[in-house]
Amino acid sequence: MTLKEMDQTYVLPTYARNYVHFVRGENSMLYDAEGRDYVDFGSGIAVCSVGHGNPRLAEAICDQARKLIHTSNLYLIEPQARLAKRLAELSGYDVQTFFANSGAEANEGAIKIARRYGTDEEGNVKRYKIITLEHSFHGRTITALKATGQESMHTYFGPFPDGFVYAKDIANVYDLIDDHTVAVMIELVQGEGGVQPMEKEAVQRLAEELKRRDILLIVDEVQTGIYRTGELLASNLYEITPDIVTLAKGLGGGVPIGAIMTTHKNILKAGDHGSTFGGNFLATRAALEVLEILEERKNSGELDHMLLLFEERLKSFVPKYPELFEKEVGTGLMRGLRVKEGKEAGDIVKAAFDERVVVLKAGKNTVRFLPVLTITKEEMDLGFERFEAALDRL
Ligand SMILES: *Cc1c(COP(=O)(O)O)cnc(C)c1O
Repeated sequence: MTLKEMDQTYVLPTYARNYVHFVRGENSMLYDAEGRDYVDFGSGIAVCSVGHGNPRLAEAICDQARKLIHTSNLYLIEPQARLAKRLAELSGYDVQTFFANSGAEANEGAIKIARRYGTDEEGNVKRYKIITLEHSFHGRTITALKATGQESMHTYFGPFPDGFVYAKDIANVYDLIDDHTVAVMIELVQGEGGVQPMEKEAVQRLAEELKRRDILLIVDEVQTGIYRTGELLASNLYEITPDIVTLAKGLGGGVPIGAIMTTHKNILKAGDHGSTFGGNFLATRAALEVLEILEERKNSGELDHMLLLFEERLKSFVPKYPELFEKEVGTGLMRGLRVKEGKEAGDIVKAAFDERVVVLKAGKNTVRFLPVLTITKEEMDLGFERFEAALDRL
């Protein structure tokens, strides 16, 4: 039985898998079982923030695994405390953090905090509605799916929890606020929705207005967080202070971890929320190392330098291939090329893969780029050279 047959026989078919067999990686490079190299402009969907095979991350994980992987949250966990401190320091927010294991789970926790905020001590629900945006993506659990503003994802799996409404855009949020509204949850740059950044001033105005009305602002930074936009959080870039920020993807560099940061330190009490794995020694030690590597890269100026180079290179494809691309979108190292009507983003992703550069599709018509945050100039040049070769063949 080949590996592909094994996968198809024993793994549930929930993914439209490409059966390339990657066996190792080195920063932006991936290598398959036949020894072919690929430039990875996808980072395992914004996860491998410090690149593949990062020796410092590998060393931290190995060292921690030899000592302790897990003890449960019944006891003190040194790297968890240190990671929560670093997240507060690096973000500049006066927050406490809860650790989960994924983005959907972090968002579930954020929704629980909001629901608890809307409930009085006797358990009477005063406010419960949460406004999210159309084209948003918040995860795959039943509640996170319902929070996701894409009706096509609500066809099955009902009945869903009540209390989610979808705004067309930031301006439309105001129209949906009523006496039952307890929170607004948004991505500052919609990732799955097509790498669409929100307008900074509109977000700042919304944040102010929500604060005035005592409605919580939850920013889903599962994709935008951990230096993806050039700052630790996109919320830093937008110069807002959300009530709740959720994190996951890039935080562990590939080790599963999610986080909920909140300025409201007293909403949840002992017993209100929990997770068996959440914040264990292995995951938080990995995340601490990821933050250290990326903070150094930010402070040395390298991150901002590569970010500008990447943007410049990507923008040049629009005038060069006007029949394919409408415009360049995104921010930081979360970028996309919006494909012209009548052209298929999926075809471009396929052609790029044939030239051995990994890019992703987002939304209906966007080719998405999420390079590793430790990308080198050489890797970038090679990746774009291959991408251009792919476009020339289309
Ligand atoms: C990926 C993503 C999620 C879901 O994260 P999982 O770890 O897959 O549960 C939630 N929100 C945003 C913005 C994401 O990009």
